Amino acid sequence: MSVKRKLALFLLRITRNIMENIILTGFSGTGKTEVAKLLAYSMNWNVFDTDVVIEQEQGKTIKEIFENEGEENFRKIESNVIRKACSNTHTIISTGGGAFILEKNRTAMLKSGFVVTLDASPNTILARLKKNSSNPLNERPLLKSSNPLEKITELKKQRQYIYSLSHWTIKTDLLNINSVSKEIIHAWKLINNQNNINHANTISDPNYASSIITEKGECPVFVGSGIIELLGNYCKNNNLSSTAYLIADSITGFQHTRKAQLSLENHSIPTHTFTFPQGEISKTISTITPIFEWLAQQKAERNHFVVALGGGVVGDISGFVASTYNRGIPFVQVPTSLAAMVDASIGGKTAINLPQGKNLVGAFHQPSIILIDTNLLKTLPQRELISGWAEAIKHGIIKNLDLFENFEQNSNLIQKLDPLTSTRVIKASVATKIEVVNLDQYETLGIRTLLNYGHTIGHALENSIGYGELLHGEAVSIGMCFAARISEKMGLIDMKCVQRQEKILETYGLPTYWKNINHEQIKLAMKVDKKTVGKSINWVLLENIGKAVVRSDVPEDIIKATMKEVL
Ligand code: NAD
Repeated sequence: MSVKRKLALFLLRITRNIMENIILTGFSGTGKTEVAKLLAYSMNWNVFDTDVVIEQEQGKTIKEIFENEGEENFRKIESNVIRKACSNTHTIISTGGGAFILEKNRTAMLKSGFVVTLDASPNTILARLKKNSSNPLNERPLLKSSNPLEKITELKKQRQYIYSLSHWTIKTDLLNINSVSKEIIHAWKLINNQNNINHANTISDPNYASSIITEKGECPVFVGSGIIELLGNYCKNNNLSSTAYLIADSITGFQHTRKAQLSLENHSIPTHTFTFPQGEISKTISTITPIFEWLAQQKAERNHFVVALGGGVVGDISGFVASTYNRGIPFVQVPTSLAAMVDASIGGKTAINLPQGKNLVGAFHQPSIILIDTNLLKTLPQRELISGWAEAIKHGIIKNLDLFENFEQNSNLIQKLDPLTSTRVIKASVATKIEVVNLDQYETLGIRTLLNYGHTIGHALENSIGYGELLHGEAVSIGMCFAARISEKMGLIDMKCVQRQEKILETYGLPTYWKNINHEQIKLAMKVDKKTVGKSINWVLLENIGKAVVRSDVPEDIIKATMKEVL
């Protein structure tokens, strides 16, 4: 049996198991403990309350552990208990309010069962905490405050996004424990059925790379050579079987639309097509208006869907159209440039440009599926291909050493677009970006900042030299060399690391420096770039190959010295 097949079966087994526990998360006072007991009784399952187990094991109350040993120690104890809880089956697990926030707990919980967030408004939470005499307010270590309502509101705001990564959320304000328990059982049955059919099919598919998880659902990403012919199949399997509106630019429309359209129509999905002139110049409102009018003429409905077939420009325009037409319709990304495959199509950002700046008008709108056919890269102009490798390699540099080494060891085969080898690295690069995006869906937590490695100088170069002179990936490549040299000067990495990065970029034909540019102009461009907070710039630097960090304390003289070397 091939390694791939074994992995698929392993994943399939995990999927079959994942709904074998129900795990409750959410803020204190949302009723987790009581709901867990009732659920366990109704389903004839076991109950595991992590706070109760912690207190039993430690022989102290949670409050005492917080006060005597500090929060950090409490979180360590809690993580061990969560790990134990998650190794059970047929168990209702009730967890403390902060447990889901830690990545390792969250990963364990999401793998082990159906994770439900119990939500309530700050006022409801406060009222319940006050009413529940067995849990008076002063027993809640995190809520000690002169203004508990403000504290709850603030903490809830901070945690809201993380809670939204659970599988299901129930607003409990107007529900009693009985109703909440019934809602959970209903959702669990629904998800279990769908999951067994859809999810198991998806992750056992050899082309499956990873999924973008959003509060609206899951967007599976498939990467393979020649898989555009499976577009109709993937759409159907993911509940997209009504009319498709395929949008492409003048180049991708000419070269690749027919195959996509045939695949959709072979699956009885009527497909209409629209093309606009290729290039960044089209990313404006004047391209969007005729697309809206076309959709209206075709009588596009809310359950119909848009398919974006092209580079980042097509993806950004089509995604924006889908996010706004009829107040939002589903869309599918079929990226055709390397930059769009490993970067632009992943993350749900859509936008158009204004004369005042790039990407100023847009929305977050996650696609329903992303289908990446690496065979389409054969028609991509060589310079665009090389530029795309910069972002793909970047994901290895910032977060995935194995991927970086794969780029090093197989550079010949990858650059020749050997189907197996190039598909493997593109898949790993995509999965690495998804790992970051899943933790920071709306780019509000600062986690996505890591993806900006090389972009501070990259954007400044694009701004100063003028868009089009340097392709985006080329500018990012120079920016990564700049950031690595700063990292070396800050004592974070050694020169060998800098040279190793430069070597791989050169191997793939990417520039590592840019000479004869006015340094004052670059400094000015850096200041107006969106990553500048107040006066300090958030630099993404390296602590090693495969490990990036964000630093805002880079001294001016280090920047000056690096400019002399790289620019
Ligand atoms: P692009 O879409 O302009 O594509 C580059 C060129 O390659 C175009 O001429 C296109 O027609 C052609 N092309 C694409 N695929 C082809 C193929 N398979 N064969 C032949 N020709 C092909 O540019 P891009 O680099 O793909 O994307 C850049 C855009 O993406 C920018 O507008 C940028 O703002 C946006 N972007 C968005 C995000 C995001 O998160 N939404 C991230 C990065 C970049």
